Amino acid sequence: MGMTLQFLSIASGSSGNCYYLGTDNYGILFDAGVSLNTLKKAMKEKSIRMEAIMAVFITHDHADHIKSVGGLGEVHGIPVYATQAVHAGIESNRYVTVKLPTSRRIIEKDRTVTIKDFNITAFNVPHDASDCVGYLIQYKHHHFVIATDIGRIDQTVGEYIRKANHLIIEANYDREMLLRGNYPLFLKERITSGKGHLCNTETAVFLATHFDSHLKNIWLCHLSKHNNLPSLAYEAVGKALEQSGIRVGEDVNLTVLPRSVPSEWYYLE
Ligand SMILES: [Zn+2]
Ligand SMILES: [Zn+2]
Repeated sequence: MGMTLQFLSIASGSSGNCYYLGTDNYGILFDAGVSLNTLKKAMKEKSIRMEAIMAVFITHDHADHIKSVGGLGEVHGIPVYATQAVHAGIESNRYVTVKLPTSRRIIEKDRTVTIKDFNITAFNVPHDASDCVGYLIQYKHHHFVIATDIGRIDQTVGEYIRKANHLIIEANYDREMLLRGNYPLFLKERITSGKGHLCNTETAVFLATHFDSHLKNIWLCHLSKHNNLPSLAYEAVGKALEQSGIRVGEDVNLTVLPRSVPSEWYYLE
């Protein structure tokens, strides 16, 4: 019971990202891309105490990942872990009004940080922020990987993803919807470049080609509000897996995370 790994998505998408991983007694947040009020409301609804949060780990300094870092760090005294470059980006970001003089903690890529029973390793991700990382979180026999805001799955990202028993991976946009939609050309080019976001097909092809039987849960994250639909993301990845002989719901669970409301609790044995 006390050993069970508990996962909750508080928000996932271009308007805000925040994930919770924990045990019965304490937890860790990954990204703080919703307002402090929204976060507190979600935590109350899910019976998570602020005092139980041991740390916040940040992937990168885009607003949808750092909105409440100041409040968490300086008001609630929770250490905020990020690379030096991401911290510099937070420091100079005009949307972050509360800076992190006391709560700033610097991490390095491929170096493991231990928070109680959790071993957390950041890995490099190609994305157009000051710097961007994904996280491998090892807890007991679990390997949980968070891979969001990825221009392309390069060798490093691929190696870390393949370690996962539980994987949060981006399925940001449907290519047709993006190309036919009314985003300006520069934005379409930014998103599809190797430093923007992953589309449904890119995620689907990678997962179907590199599937390993130790992968038990896939959560698709960071869906675009304008250029994707949960059904399209689910179908793209589900079909690709099935076509490779992987039974969705039996060999692996596949879920699309909701954009602006918390997910259900996932208890990982
Ligand atoms: Zn983002
Ligand atoms: Zn981003």
